Amino acid sequence: MSDPFTLGHEMYYKIKELRNFTTNKVTAGFSTRHGGVSQGPFQSLNLGLHVKDVDHDVIDNRRRLAEAIDTQLEQWVFADQVHGSDICKVEQTDKGKGSKSLESGIIGMDGLYTRESGLVLALAYADCVPVFFLSEESDIVGVAHAGWKGSVKGIAAKMVGTWVTNEEVAVDSIHVFVGPSIQGCCYEVDKHVITQVDDSLDDEDPRPYTAKGNSKYQLDLQRLNKQLLMKAGVPEKNVHLTKLCTSCNVDRFFSHRKENGTTGRMLGFIMVEQ
Ligand SMILES: [Zn+2]
Repeated sequence: MSDPFTLGHEMYYKIKELRNFTTNKVTAGFSTRHGGVSQGPFQSLNLGLHVKDVDHDVIDNRRRLAEAIDTQLEQWVFADQVHGSDICKVEQTDKGKGSKSLESGIIGMDGLYTRESGLVLALAYADCVPVFFLSEESDIVGVAHAGWKGSVKGIAAKMVGTWVTNEEVAVDSIHVFVGPSIQGCCYEVDKHVITQVDDSLDDEDPRPYTAKGNSKYQLDLQRLNKQLLMKAGVPEKNVHLTKLCTSCNVDRFFSHRKENGTTGRMLGFIMVEQ
């Protein structure tokens, strides 16, 4: 099957053919490192305000991306992310939060969803897993930030559970798209991480990692998220994974691991068009 993420523009990959999955007009994608004004390790489309880049450049970059998808930056909503699993419902009154300063973002959230059209939900990534949510039957969209911590805390399944319980969305109407992240090919972790991966699964579940000896493992975070989503009731056919690896492709993406921690951030974004 072809990859669900396709290069829509120099500045971003988009999730293609979303009209096959929902009756709403949804725009969703994941930015690249190209088409911005940042310098040095942040060259050029750094979209994170928390990485010691020049704020003015980051805001300029955000404006460029906003315009590339026919929106204004003032429609965007950002969170101040903490590698947790808390999820927030975003309303019109949140419009613009975090778009021009870190402090004005929605504090302590790693998952955002909304039923409002015209709001662009955005979270920042450099290797962590961007997870995008929509429903076939309902005008609801969401995005989550799932590094290994968020993944083992089950943030993706938590978004699904929140929609089912609080928003009366049918679980089999939910489609989940997992975007560019560090993949199993490049993600070596130690026993400390694997113990928590094991704790997030049941004994009979397959393991989304391989042992390499010396207490080192190759972990496939995309597969872990898929397994946890399926355990939450999302049909397997509704979970769509990309093959794009941020660490294998530092010519296109920022990679925290590959670039030893000093690098920029991409944004995962999703909106229901007005
Ligand atoms: Zn890789």
